[in-house]
Amino acid sequence: MDFAYDARTEELREQLLAFMDEHVYPAEPVLAAQLADPDRDRWAVPPVIADLQAAARKQKLWNLFLPGELGAGLSNLQYAPLAEITGRSIQLAPPALNCAAPDTGNMELLAQFGSAEQRERWLRPLLDGRIRSAFAMTEPEVASSDATNIETRIERDGDAYVVNGRKWYITGAMNPDCRILIVMGKTDPAAEPHRRQSMLLVPRDTPGVTVRRGMTVFGYDDADHGGHAEVLFEDVRVPVGNLIGEEGTGFAIAQARLGPGRIHHCMRAIGIAERALELMCRRASERVAFGKPLAEQGVVQDWIAESRVRIEQLRLLVLKTAWLMDTVGNRGAHTEIQAIKIATPRTVEWILDKAVQAHGAAGVSQDTPLAQLWAGNRTLRLADGPDEVHKRSLARRELRQYRR
Ligand SMILES: Cc1cc2nc3c(=O)[nH]c(=O)nc-3n(C[C@H](O)[C@H](O)[C@H](O)COP(=O)(O)OP(=O)(O)OC[C@H]3O[C@@H](n4cnc5c(N)ncnc54)[C@H](O)[C@@H]3O)c2cc1C
Repeated sequence: MDFAYDARTEELREQLLAFMDEHVYPAEPVLAAQLADPDRDRWAVPPVIADLQAAARKQKLWNLFLPGELGAGLSNLQYAPLAEITGRSIQLAPPALNCAAPDTGNMELLAQFGSAEQRERWLRPLLDGRIRSAFAMTEPEVASSDATNIETRIERDGDAYVVNGRKWYITGAMNPDCRILIVMGKTDPAAEPHRRQSMLLVPRDTPGVTVRRGMTVFGYDDADHGGHAEVLFEDVRVPVGNLIGEEGTGFAIAQARLGPGRIHHCMRAIGIAERALELMCRRASERVAFGKPLAEQGVVQDWIAESRVRIEQLRLLVLKTAWLMDTVGNRGAHTEIQAIKIATPRTVEWILDKAVQAHGAAGVSQDTPLAQLWAGNRTLRLADGPDEVHKRSLARRELRQYRR
């Protein structure tokens, strides 16, 4: 067992760390100022992100997430430590490198399942960072963690599909640069449960698509990355050529999309935890209460030590998962993918909570990134499958071997 990163990963890590120091961290106050500008177009991506994208492209720090010829050609094991670094500045670094969700998952999906025409029309501009995209599955009316519940109808009518339904929490869809929605809906409600759904490409400007409002997350609008939209589809007609794959394959495609997406979230979240630990250590070293720095209190040392131990445990599990995905495939890494999806958000939540506590009131204020990081990380226990759903399926697989 070799715990070292390979030469290509090391080279990219060094390059990316330098990029973070030179471009990304100095851009954090610029982003804050641009977001606070009362005259800004609320849902447009702040211009500092386009500046960073130009700098990243020049250095070929671009599409690192995408394996194969279309992307940087990295394995999961090579990309994982790079995703972690981008998590240290979660609002800026992933979009700067064209490595932010949900576009990453959508690009993977189109690369894997899109027709040549769909790839040319939508994947190419996404890879170039010229447009943005959204993935529309969740519905307010039904428990969407069980995808078989999805009620949106996709009905064939001559050479078109007609879509009717309501979705919400569709990340990125408030962004005016978001041009394409990948919509999940039922094409055949009478088929067996996992063959009822299909996926359809719906341009955001198609008549009948109404982007109604931006949903908030603990009060944050997440406008810097396109918000989370409620979207209404009323008799929306698109050509039959917009179907991804075949009718009835929507569920299978959704599952394939989520594997890599989950590991990316987890690696970035470890970067968030590292940033939180750094902030906690700095604050505890500087802040004096009852005659000594907070860092000299045993309880604070316990938070710091526990945070380090938990981060190391998480990283090892995530890297093992990445290695399994590379060697035995996403299916073979099913248990581990679920394990990291369960373990990472809750552990990072614990570390963020301690970092908030060490900061006192400042920890919940807008003057440190901690409150917003906590809010964003908390949603990872719901999004891409709630904890309980992953535990249910992991436990069932574990129990299968004991069945008589
Ligand atoms: C910030 C954010 C961004 C999102 N982005 C997107 C997006 O871009 N596109 C998209 O389509 N969706 C998105 N979502 C939606 C997200 O994927 C769903 O919220 C999630 O799948 C859960 O579905 P639901 O909200 O309908 O909860 P429900 O399905 O109603 O579940 C509610 C709760 O029930 C419990 N539960 C469910 N099943 C079980 C079980 N078997 N055993 C025990 N308990 C159970 C869980 O605690 C769960 O949290 C986003 C959500 C958030 C918060």
